[in-house]
Amino acid sequence: MRQTDYDLVIIGGGPAGLTAGIYAARARMNVVLYEKAAPGGQVIVSDWIENYPGFPDGISGYELGEKMLNQAKNLGLNIEIEDVTSIQVDGEIKTVNLAKKSVTTKTVIIASGASPKKLNIGESQFMGKGVSFCATCDGPFFRDKTVVAVGGGDTAVQESIFLTKFVKKLYLIHRRGELRATKILQERAHKNDKIEIIWDSVVSGMDGLFAVENVKVKNVKTGEEKDIKAQGCFIWIGITPNTAFVGDILNMDDGGFIYTNGNMETSVPGIFAAGDVRTTPLKQIVTAVGDAAIAVMSAEHYIENLQD
Ligand SMILES: Cc1cc2nc3c(=O)[nH]c(=O)nc-3n(C[C@H](O)[C@H](O)[C@H](O)COP(=O)(O)OP(=O)(O)OC[C@H]3O[C@@H](n4cnc5c(N)ncnc54)[C@H](O)[C@@H]3O)c2cc1C
Repeated sequence: MRQTDYDLVIIGGGPAGLTAGIYAARARMNVVLYEKAAPGGQVIVSDWIENYPGFPDGISGYELGEKMLNQAKNLGLNIEIEDVTSIQVDGEIKTVNLAKKSVTTKTVIIASGASPKKLNIGESQFMGKGVSFCATCDGPFFRDKTVVAVGGGDTAVQESIFLTKFVKKLYLIHRRGELRATKILQERAHKNDKIEIIWDSVVSGMDGLFAVENVKVKNVKTGEEKDIKAQGCFIWIGITPNTAFVGDILNMDDGGFIYTNGNMETSVPGIFAAGDVRTTPLKQIVTAVGDAAIAVMSAEHYIENLQD
């Protein structure tokens, strides 16, 4: 086959991408990792990780991300800060397009993860003015204030508990009658005096002159709407995949998550996906890093089987 710039291009520098980088660097593959923002991915905005093995007392998300990055760098992984804008497939040759250049490669691992879902009730105008997706980044700005948090899964509950280090009061708005979060987190939330859960409810609007002053909460069963005087609104209602750059070259589900098989192979030979970007049933660090290791093994096998 024609020469390519790389054996493997990894897209995304979160846990999946960095793990793929670690495995590929150790396999001495000709590899580059492109990350459009800060390496570490969603992990670096997570306050505290206590379900990733190897850290008996837990570890801050930022520190875990930094350790993964340093491990990859120490093994010689080439990491470039670049936004991947599209991929073209010409048989066995894949072209990865960046803002100012294009590179060719035999294989691609898409590990571009996901971004927080928005409520779409007009919160965009209050971004950085009370609305946040990151307790670690913005929690200290809400010292002794009242805030609303939205969601009922692990992230919403864990990050809400973290916020109570700063805030005077936190209303956790959940659209169902019980939380989805792991039992241990539920127990901690119920015991926390600063957290009040408002069940069967959604945030229906927010207002304020220059920043959030008031959050509207609607009961989905009764339709009753009430105002909560709050200076912040933290949103943790799930994630959407970062797959806009993939276009329609791969099979994806209705939400834009990439379909793979157990070998992390996508619908296009030579393109693999790992971590939160794929249709995995559990979107966690431990699953993302496992996917990535398998994806590199599959990429190596794919290259070995290419015709000379
Ligand atoms: C607040 C919060 C708390 C969490 N707590 C936990 C926890 O306690 N335990 C746990 O196991 N999991 C937790 N998670 C989930 C965990 O962080 C994710 O499952 C994990 O980060 C997924 O890793 P990933 O590499 O697949 O994707 P991501 O971490 O999303 O990384 C993807 C990377 O790809 C980059 N990227 C995207 N598009 C492009 C592009 N076009 N070009 C180049 N780069 C691109 C992004 O900038 C990002 O850095 C938490 C998540 C959040 C948000």
